[in-house]
Amino acid sequence: MMPKLGNYITGSWITGDGEGQTLFNAFNGEPITQASTRGLDFGAVLDYARQKGNPALRRMSFHERGRMLRALALHLREHLEKFYRISYLTGATRADSWIDLEGGIGNLFAYASLRRKFPDEPFCPDGEGMPLGKGGTFMGQHVLVPKEGVAIHINAFNFPVWGMLEKIAVNLLAGVPAVVKPATVTCFLTEAVVREIAASGILPDGALQLICGSAGDLLDHVASQDVVTFTGSASTGLQLKAHPAILRESTPFNMEADSLNCLVLGTDVEPGMPEWDLFIKELRKEMTVKAGQKCTAVRRIFVPENRLEDAQKALIRAIAQTTIGNPENEKVRMGPLAGQTQRLEVRAQVTKLLASSQLIYGALDNVKLLEGDADKGAFLSPLLLLNDRPFDSEEPHSIEAFGPVSTMMPYRDMEAAIELSKMGKGSLCSSIVTADARIAREYVLGAATHHGRILILNNECAKESTGHGSPLPLLVHGGPGRAGGGEEMGGIRGVKHYMQRVAVQGSPSMITALTDVYQPNARQTTGEKHPFRKYFEELQIGDTVITHRRTITEADIVNFANVSWDHFYAHTDHTSLADTLFEKPVAHGYFILSAAAGLFVDPGKGPVMLNYGVEECRFLKPVYAGSTIGVKLTCKEKIAQEKKEEKELPRGIVKWYVDVYDETGESVAIATILTMVQRSGAVGDGPSEGQT
Ligand code: NAP
Repeated sequence: MMPKLGNYITGSWITGDGEGQTLFNAFNGEPITQASTRGLDFGAVLDYARQKGNPALRRMSFHERGRMLRALALHLREHLEKFYRISYLTGATRADSWIDLEGGIGNLFAYASLRRKFPDEPFCPDGEGMPLGKGGTFMGQHVLVPKEGVAIHINAFNFPVWGMLEKIAVNLLAGVPAVVKPATVTCFLTEAVVREIAASGILPDGALQLICGSAGDLLDHVASQDVVTFTGSASTGLQLKAHPAILRESTPFNMEADSLNCLVLGTDVEPGMPEWDLFIKELRKEMTVKAGQKCTAVRRIFVPENRLEDAQKALIRAIAQTTIGNPENEKVRMGPLAGQTQRLEVRAQVTKLLASSQLIYGALDNVKLLEGDADKGAFLSPLLLLNDRPFDSEEPHSIEAFGPVSTMMPYRDMEAAIELSKMGKGSLCSSIVTADARIAREYVLGAATHHGRILILNNECAKESTGHGSPLPLLVHGGPGRAGGGEEMGGIRGVKHYMQRVAVQGSPSMITALTDVYQPNARQTTGEKHPFRKYFEELQIGDTVITHRRTITEADIVNFANVSWDHFYAHTDHTSLADTLFEKPVAHGYFILSAAAGLFVDPGKGPVMLNYGVEECRFLKPVYAGSTIGVKLTCKEKIAQEKKEEKELPRGIVKWYVDVYDETGESVAIATILTMVQRSGAVGDGPSEGQT
């Protein structure tokens, strides 16, 4: 009997009942394994995630979760060669697999690094606090906590690894476990990766479960704290989005569906320009990488009508060079589709497209191979279509052939190109190739409503450009309308999708205690010891020094102008102040901040290692000669830092709230300054925690 894939559920590897669905080698059609989920208790799978994985993850801080992702990425990198070997069976060349495998692992690294944008807590404040009362005793602050449910990822077949990792990186950083259901046809590769993840023991129990095969009644068990993400065809997506349990529970449903992405050649670009070559190169890549089975692949090519002939010829010349065959052969640039079903599907879609377009390159039933059998393997030639009446045909804008297929269409002017781009009714991404900033601006502002991402490609950025087809972890991946309306990834935006936002109201001291971030008007603690004499661990949020005071003189203002060379009229020229906001020469804002530092700094050598910068600074009221200023310096926030090298001193960043006020008690300047502060363990035989 053929080996059967495992389902990693409720803490162990379980095979489904019966024979299951047979999965094939895309290159030669030989059966390789079977997948079955028959007999699995999907309700128990979701409960396990909620009861085991969720509490374990939500107890961890963002920083711990981020370090966990990094450990996972490093671990998976060790096993890449094994994954590459399996990936060939999906029809992917080594370059295709690189996107899937190393791109997926790259996502784990990217989200691991993103931990630094969050506090070392399981939850995070969302935005700034807002005063809600004139007396300063009542305020509001949004806070995000991890949802108590599970992220259910139903993925498409084309990126069995990236599709999983790009999604779980986000929910795991947020503190939510995942159940992954890859598309069955290529799930053997996902299974191999999850086996390594499970064996590593890096994730807590219940943080990740895998279903290889049909989703059964999985969605019947979703609840309101869960999040469902779907990647696949619009028709399946629509069916799942309307699932009664999802509607009943108001479960968030993020959908990434098929998309008629387009690339526009700017009217300024002509043969001979570097942008012309970029246009051809990008299109060739888009049509042949992963045999065109990319959700972001360019399906529609819009070319100025006077360039149509040149563009056709150049593109045909380029795609004709594509070597097709065994994905393991190093000379091969394009492998087969993922399976025979996918090939049948693409052929059927192209036949529909041919109702209004003509084939100008390739053949539906004939493909020249470097190595392989065109019948046994799911091979298909690149197919370039031409439609010369794009406003009169609906097909090229609505039928997606998920393979190496694109349709070229002429346009008259930029307004027409924008209209045509929108006829796709919402795409994941679009590109414009142009060297003209005015054309780029017109296109982006005109087409933006219908796209999730727009690449402006020209010679300046070409070398570093990640290309039309690459979703990036820190940018949203998704699109409006028929692209599903969803947004995956997007850095912090993506993480927030798995968290519940709650608006908390209360006194500044209560909000400070909740968030561990000092809020203006909260209680301040003054003591004998200057906060600059305290080690990182010793400092408490709210620790404050109230300084002595200093009267600003005319000489101070003149001297600062001389030292800084800032002779702006408002500081130096008595005669120029008529009709200005100032009555007299005003002290430089930077001087006030410097003078504040002179007041609040404790000068002796101590735990403060250096000044790290200023985050926010506002000059609220003019300070004239004769004014007397004082400062309240308050410990606002503490961020522990990880050691990058063994010999580094353990330390953290401390943010200080600086309030500079004048003789009337009104604030003249506020700022948040950052210092690097040693941890007490850093000083060998010196003071231990809590000592100076
Ligand atoms: P699909 O047939 O719609 O399947 C997508 C996923 O849905 C698979 O995991 C599939 O599982 C599952 N599924 C199907 N019926 C289900 C049901 N009743 N309940 C629960 N799950 C169900 O799409 P595909 O053929 O895998 O992928 C190709 C399509 O995906 C293309 O149209 C492409 O444009 C789109 N795509 C979009 C993106 C994007 O980010 N926008 C990315 C990649 C692909 P089974 O495999 O077990 O049927």
